[in-house]
Amino acid sequence: MTILANKTDLVRAGSGTWQDQMKWAIRDLRGLRDVLGLADEGGLQHAAEAEFPVFAPLPYLTRITPGDSQDPLLRQLWPSGSEMESPGHFSTDPLGESDATKSSGMLQKYQGRVLLVTTGACAIHCRYCFRRHFPYEQSPKSMAQWEPTLTKIAADDSIDEVILSGGDPLTIVDHSLSRLIARIDEMAHIKRIRFHTRLPIMIPQRVTDAFLEILANARCQMIVVIHANHANELDLSVEQALSKIANSGAMLLNQAVLLRGVNDSLESLKNLSQRLLSCRVLPYYLHQLDPVSGAAHFEVDVKQGLQLVTELRSCLPGYAVPRYVQELRGEPNKTVLA
Ligand SMILES: *Cc1c(COP(=O)(O)O)cnc(C)c1O
Ligand code: SF4
Repeated sequence: MTILANKTDLVRAGSGTWQDQMKWAIRDLRGLRDVLGLADEGGLQHAAEAEFPVFAPLPYLTRITPGDSQDPLLRQLWPSGSEMESPGHFSTDPLGESDATKSSGMLQKYQGRVLLVTTGACAIHCRYCFRRHFPYEQSPKSMAQWEPTLTKIAADDSIDEVILSGGDPLTIVDHSLSRLIARIDEMAHIKRIRFHTRLPIMIPQRVTDAFLEILANARCQMIVVIHANHANELDLSVEQALSKIANSGAMLLNQAVLLRGVNDSLESLKNLSQRLLSCRVLPYYLHQLDPVSGAAHFEVDVKQGLQLVTELRSCLPGYAVPRYVQELRGEPNKTVLA
């Protein structure tokens, strides 16, 4: 049985609200094997699943080729036995985020920008996620719990941009999101509000009219940074959702992670940039993988990354080439490699 052969799943993937899609998401290896027609890889794979469970929404799964264990979209969410091997320099807090936590739920590493860890929930569990070991339970859960952090931001003129991250901030329902944004938007010194989200890709239905209104009505410049690693993620339904975001007046950027077996070729990176442009999204960052334990098998050498980006630059317009960056502990900005 494959998802394409299974009419119920296919019809479901294109229907329902985004919350239905969160409910209908595949949440275990067995379900994933069933819908995609894949084989059980045995013991270590189950151990990997036990460490970080599967979460895979149907709309995204329809873009995967059934039966292909090397599919670049599948690899991003398919638990692998290799996750259980962790070389020494791969750790549970690779970026020193516990030191950068300045207030409950707030990280500040860089001048002028603060990042709010709004939720631990995501619409996919990316196997390479650098926050897979993040202590989300310490983040605020309600507006009342957010208030001390928001009061600090309101009192700090040196901050001009608030980044809503997580997890994925778009897992928060529109009426709660709207209250949080309104509270930030009323702070005169905040000029930009930025979302870091994979939801418009995983579940395009998430781009609701209420969310578009939040984007269109804010005083601040709104920036939506999506996260796509491969051109196949951006099908027509995603293109339409992104087009609505662009029409709201928000700026659309993409960050990708350089991942072995997903996008570590010139062809793949070039297709990704071109597809992003056709969806009105500018490639912003290409991240060197953060050394988070469990993700070592996704690592691409910096040397190879530099070569790829150099080649990419020779065949695309300058604005279509993302900055290749690495996050190093204690630096005042992300380190640009190329
Ligand atoms: C990446 C990151 C930012 C954003 O950095 P930009 O270079 O502005 O995109 C802000 N805060 C933290 C903690 C980050 O990790
Ligand atoms: S969507 Fe982002 S935060 Fe969530 S699992 Fe994927 S990389 Fe991690």
